[in-house]
Amino acid sequence: MEKQSRHKRRYWKRKNAGLCTSCGVNPSHEGKSWCQGCLSKGAECRRKAKDKKIKNGICVHNGCNEPSTKTQRCDRHQEEQNLRSFKRNLAIKKETFEAYGGAKCSCCGDDEIWVLCLDHIGGDGSSHRQQLRSIGKDAGGHGFYRMLKSQGFPDKDRYRVLCCNCNLYIHLRGEPCYHQQS
Ligand SMILES: [Zn+2]
Ligand SMILES: [Zn+2]
Ligand SMILES: [Zn+2]
Ligand SMILES: [Zn+2]
Repeated sequence: MEKQSRHKRRYWKRKNAGLCTSCGVNPSHEGKSWCQGCLSKGAECRRKAKDKKIKNGICVHNGCNEPSTKTQRCDRHQEEQNLRSFKRNLAIKKETFEAYGGAKCSCCGDDEIWVLCLDHIGGDGSSHRQQLRSIGKDAGGHGFYRMLKSQGFPDKDRYRVLCCNCNLYIHLRGEPCYHQQS
């Protein structure tokens, strides 16, 4: 008890001084509690522990000792992981759409998230995707949304939200959507 509160005091003393809470020597890395050195040491340590678990066929989830099955996790933790990435992907998708005009089709107003996508206005989508791939970036879907987020959602007039229906019509016909024609 006594030992723990001393540990906590030391933690806050370092934190408030902007020092790494692990070594207390170097300044903490931007937005993190630890310095660059301690962060990479920690990552290396976690990676080794993970490799060992994979080699022994144990679920890689922290603290779990169940045997892994189809993936590197036991069934229960794989399911948890799937749900987590599903929620994360849905959240980043919504956030991206909100940033580029709202989570609804900018043409027909459909707001079913599953049929919406981010469209390149001007139709340079495929060349942009190619260009992104050539510099090793994820060019489609959630990786692309995450990249936009990390850049603060730039080029607001380059993208718009469209539903599959309008998107398909515009790109197949190469003309304004039938919703826009009178
Ligand atoms: Zn450190
Ligand atoms: Zn597990
Ligand atoms: Zn639409
Ligand atoms: Zn339309």
